[in-house]
Amino acid sequence: MGLFSLFTREIAIDLGTANTVILHDNKVVVDEPSIIAIDSRTKSVVAVGKKALMMEGKTSGEIYTVRPLRNGVIADFQPTELMLREFIKMTNTKHSLITPAMKMVICIPSGITEVEERAVRESAEQAGAKEVRLIYEPMAAAIGSGIDVLDANGNMIIDIGGGTSEVAVIALGSIASKKSVQVAGDRLNTDIKEFMRREHNLDIGIPTAEQIKINVGAAVTHLDNPPADYEVYGRDLVHGIPRSIMINYQEIATALNNSINSIEDAVMQALNVTPPELSADIFKTGIYLAGGGSLLRGLDKRINKITQLPVHVVEDPLRAVARGTAIALKNLDKFESLTKY
Ligand code: ADP
Ligand code: MG
Repeated sequence: MGLFSLFTREIAIDLGTANTVILHDNKVVVDEPSIIAIDSRTKSVVAVGKKALMMEGKTSGEIYTVRPLRNGVIADFQPTELMLREFIKMTNTKHSLITPAMKMVICIPSGITEVEERAVRESAEQAGAKEVRLIYEPMAAAIGSGIDVLDANGNMIIDIGGGTSEVAVIALGSIASKKSVQVAGDRLNTDIKEFMRREHNLDIGIPTAEQIKINVGAAVTHLDNPPADYEVYGRDLVHGIPRSIMINYQEIATALNNSINSIEDAVMQALNVTPPELSADIFKTGIYLAGGGSLLRGLDKRINKITQLPVHVVEDPLRAVARGTAIALKNLDKFESLTKY
């Protein structure tokens, strides 16, 4: 280990709307939901990540939870800063006495404004970063998916996160065409919540909707390996008392249909504005699906059906962006032009 690396800690951060993943030395040191619980009297942090998530929908009085990045943008500057700072603290596992200088590459959504970009950068600096570089999410997702982004050969990557679905065509180290929609995992959860209310008179919270999506979520009404039906607990809207019902994946596929259509539209629009030479490349290589949303059962099949292109769900899609950010950090000489100060 060189003297430099002794005193400089290099970390890669995927600041996602749903999850924040931090890598240090090729290891995942933080993988937490992007949520913070704050005491409104003192403006102090009560909990972050998983601990704060457990409080979501259950807080009362002075303590409240916030997901500061909700729509893929920094909706709220202060909680973002507090959250980022807590997560960065978690990376200091050795509790070293000297605080090392930190160098960071942070992945940000491509639709972010300059003001929001500055907010992320300032949060990182407040949290102790001496050098901060930013990289756009589709680029990081592509690198983390094993795509050679510097090659002339074009590739299409779709990153479906919590707040946004981002479609991008990448070649020669730049984004040739892109389309971003605010329809992703969070929207699917509200679709499920509304469906349960409308069709079953059952009031459920967002955490329950998320569990339904993970257990019986689907993008198509026919699956070769269907998941077992799932028992959902909630509050009966007619009688006001707790009740449970069994739900199957076909109902959820119906509930999610409109939102999946919106994601498909974004993919088609991105394909429509892709230069012909790159179109020809994508015809051969197909489409790569990353982000937690790509785990939805049958989504690959559905995108394949509408585009007639091969669709690959990348390995460990929830961590593809963090992986790509870490690769960019480790190989800054090679990927320098893809990041910005
Ligand atoms: P972000 O980059 O916005 O933080 P992620 O890539 O971490 O988002 O993905 C989080 C989203 O993926 C959440 O909306 C979550 O509900 C969704 N998700 C995670 N696992 C699954 C699954 N098995 N099926 C469907 N959606 C999932
Ligand atoms: Mg992401």
